[in-house]
Amino acid sequence: MKPGDELIFLPLGGSGEIGMNVNLYGCRGKWIMCDLGMTFGDPSLPGIELVLPDLQFIEDRREDLLGVLLTHGHEDHIGAIPYLAGDLGVPLYATPFTAGLIRRKLEDEGLAGDVKLNVVPMGGEVALGPFRARYVALAHSIPEGNGLVIDTPHGRLFHTGDWKLDDRPILGDPASAEELMAIGANGGEGTLALVGDSTNVFNPLPSGSESQVFDGLMQLVKSRRRGRVLVTTFASNATRLHTLGEVAKATGRRLVLVGRSLERILQVAKATGYLRDFPEPMSWEAAASHPPEKLLLVATGTQGEPQAALARIAEGTHPIKLEAGDLVVYSSKQIPGNELAIGRVQNALAARGIEIIGDRQAHVHVSGHPGRPELEAMYGWIRPRIAVPVHGERRHMEEHARIALEAGVPQAIVPVNGAAIRLAPGKPEVVSHEPHGRLVLDGDVILPADGATIASRRKMAWSGHMVVTLVVGGKGRLAAEPVVIAKGVPVEEDEEAFLAEAVEAAATTFAKVGLKDRRRLEDELKIAVRRVARQWTGKKPPTDVQIISV
Ligand SMILES: [Zn+2]
Ligand SMILES: [Zn+2]
Repeated sequence: MKPGDELIFLPLGGSGEIGMNVNLYGCRGKWIMCDLGMTFGDPSLPGIELVLPDLQFIEDRREDLLGVLLTHGHEDHIGAIPYLAGDLGVPLYATPFTAGLIRRKLEDEGLAGDVKLNVVPMGGEVALGPFRARYVALAHSIPEGNGLVIDTPHGRLFHTGDWKLDDRPILGDPASAEELMAIGANGGEGTLALVGDSTNVFNPLPSGSESQVFDGLMQLVKSRRRGRVLVTTFASNATRLHTLGEVAKATGRRLVLVGRSLERILQVAKATGYLRDFPEPMSWEAAASHPPEKLLLVATGTQGEPQAALARIAEGTHPIKLEAGDLVVYSSKQIPGNELAIGRVQNALAARGIEIIGDRQAHVHVSGHPGRPELEAMYGWIRPRIAVPVHGERRHMEEHARIALEAGVPQAIVPVNGAAIRLAPGKPEVVSHEPHGRLVLDGDVILPADGATIASRRKMAWSGHMVVTLVVGGKGRLAAEPVVIAKGVPVEEDEEAFLAEAVEAAATTFAKVGLKDRRRLEDELKIAVRRVARQWTGKKPPTDVQIISV
């Protein structure tokens, strides 16, 4: 696929999933990329924390890729940069705060000199071949959420990035309704397509303003006369940090930051002009002897991550200690899939007599993504001819398409990863399916999520693993008794008896089949030993055979 005199949209990640956003636009032989995100592992990927998009398609065309435009600093938009941007070898573009976060990542990986990172001022423009992109500030749950107005020879695109409406956003200065209307009008030309966020399409209400969170947290913290208050939130939500700083000042509590990522965000935010009035945090040591009712702690770990500060505080293994009568506030939402992990942490807190308040008990969180009324407002302002929902699972994107059509958009097309969609000229349609997929970071190694390593890892994780070893002497007789090793096979205290039977089965098989056909011997040994495992346990662990001649 090489775009001719046409406009192509091709997502390599983020369509059909919330995470791992990678979107390509192609025109006249050239491509630009919007965002380069990652996602997290799940139980189907044992041992894997990070999942990355497979960029083979664009790596094969890297001489035609002109640059990567980053909309904002969330991991699902920039997280794959340290792993994949070096190979792409094209310049990155980001606004100052986002660029600060990216620079940190590149420095951590020792790649700062290898990747060209261009800092674009808020509202700045980037011209790349047939594309001219302008950054448009939109409210979101991180400073410098940006949409991109992308002008092309085939018309104007509005790529929303992640966004919401917030008339009192506390940090930042999002585009007004008038400005968005002017973007849509495009000097009378109108807008060809809106490519946008579907995350919260099922919310019938507006997302709400960060100012309401300030009010909610103020009320809550002020009402606590005794004990520590710990608020857990996403580290990247620097606006929420600012809000908590203000709450601490107003309630006479000292702020304590718990979690390395919080300190990192604070540094980047201050270096790029945010959080200038943030109160000086108190050290953990000083906090230990400070009156509890004079402390407001902020900790990472909203999603139950076992290594994060909150989980360790809940288990009592962190230098910061909470006790009965203290309060933990979840200033965050539960990301689907994390309920069990979050529940585990909350149970540990509850067992220590710590009170827990979440966004259902008090107004302590607002979402960073648009609810239905905000989507309708945006379509009213931009008035695209085509709606292209992205950043959602299939159900979110289909619902988003329905809302767009009801809002008067003439056409909507729901993309899937790898589908090249021609947006112009003519009706929007899928013109080809291109290679796409998922990679995993396994230790320091990047490999395919559906490759041999992960497949055998999964089998071992589910069923355990066995090895049969035969040592054969000069006359083709066994030089020793066969050895069988079983790992993760559910035999527990019967292990010895089980292994003895497996050894006997191996010896009998060898006596029957002999050494002449080695391949057949290996197969028969596998079958015999696995049969023993199945009889004992009902499981069929993958089994390896080694035959050693001496
Ligand atoms: Zn985001
Ligand atoms: Zn996102």
